[in-house]
Amino acid sequence: MLTWIELNAENLRHNFRVFAKIVGAAKLAPVLKSNAYGHGLKEVYSALSQEPLAWISVNYVEEGVALRRLGFKGRILVVGPFIPAELKVAHDETLELFLGHPEGLLAWQQAQEKPAVHIEFDTGMSRQGFRPNDAEKVAQSLLPQKDLVKGVCMHFANVEDVTEHEYARLQLKKFDDAKSKFMSRGFSFIAHSASSASVLILDESRFDLARVGIALYGFWPSQATRLSYKQLYGDLVELRPVLSWRTKITSINHVSQGQYVGYGCTYKARHDMVIGVLPIGYFEGYPRMASGSQAYVLIGGERCPIVGRICMNMMMVDITDIALTAKVGDIATLIGPDGMETISASEVAAWSETIHYELVTRLNPAIERRLI
Ligand SMILES: *Cc1c(COP(=O)(O)O)cnc(C)c1O
Repeated sequence: MLTWIELNAENLRHNFRVFAKIVGAAKLAPVLKSNAYGHGLKEVYSALSQEPLAWISVNYVEEGVALRRLGFKGRILVVGPFIPAELKVAHDETLELFLGHPEGLLAWQQAQEKPAVHIEFDTGMSRQGFRPNDAEKVAQSLLPQKDLVKGVCMHFANVEDVTEHEYARLQLKKFDDAKSKFMSRGFSFIAHSASSASVLILDESRFDLARVGIALYGFWPSQATRLSYKQLYGDLVELRPVLSWRTKITSINHVSQGQYVGYGCTYKARHDMVIGVLPIGYFEGYPRMASGSQAYVLIGGERCPIVGRICMNMMMVDITDIALTAKVGDIATLIGPDGMETISASEVAAWSETIHYELVTRLNPAIERRLI
């Protein structure tokens, strides 16, 4: 194996228990979309299945079906879009769908076999969901299928990026109006709105279910969320990173002063140096954007800067300082701890001018995931 991802199952379960303690395990719907945030759906499910797991959220119907194949018998919430052709399989596999636009509603009402649904309201993101102003109309048209409406829900646009939450409160107000339209017509449902950031820093968002994604994998949604939490509660809950990404040096080059490294000859050796080649590039999920930044990997607990442009399947790192001991086959850490040092996914994301959400979900799904 040239590269592999290690998953710390105990840390994952620790994070699950942190949120189970906040909202109660029965009200926790961990989000395993996008290959469990790049961590590996099968492995993450397998590690979590030892916990009292009542719900799982995914984005696609297909991901819900995959979880059924893995043996999950609890409730599955599909938060992304669906096409009419998927309604039957959603019904047969007992998936529950977010329903939030007129075309979807029509297709659902015309379907012979209808899966349960959660009616989504767009309270300020202009992404998915009925307009709160249409709540009356939507409730009216759903009266014949009242029993299949299991939830009323929404999603926040702006909790992660700010420490003041008046926009979120505005969204909650609209949600409240929409909900009461359903309540007054005798629907019985659960309400939900919270994802990681809102569960942590906006009590009034918790309602009956929390769809926790990024924090389950041990990441604070953002620095602003972390700061807000600290202001509110004085100290921090401990979220433990789950994922480490490692590879091995595949070759070593002795480069003389004045020689170039990599495509475009963007890097010129200012002195004689030793270069380690790693079999990792943007195909594997290491962003090319990190080229020319502060990016480094860890080898033997030492920081080794990435030099030159990151290629499709390889990168070159400066191992001059450890040249006496470094050899082909030595392990290099791209994300995770090594000796006294740790590289967080957030750091790699910052070097690449993106966010940790994007970085981890883009780790190539073909890379082996090992539960440790
Ligand atoms: C992705 C997603 C979540 C989880 O968000 P995190 O910030 O990762 O916790 C919750 N709800 C919906 C609708 C989502 O799309």
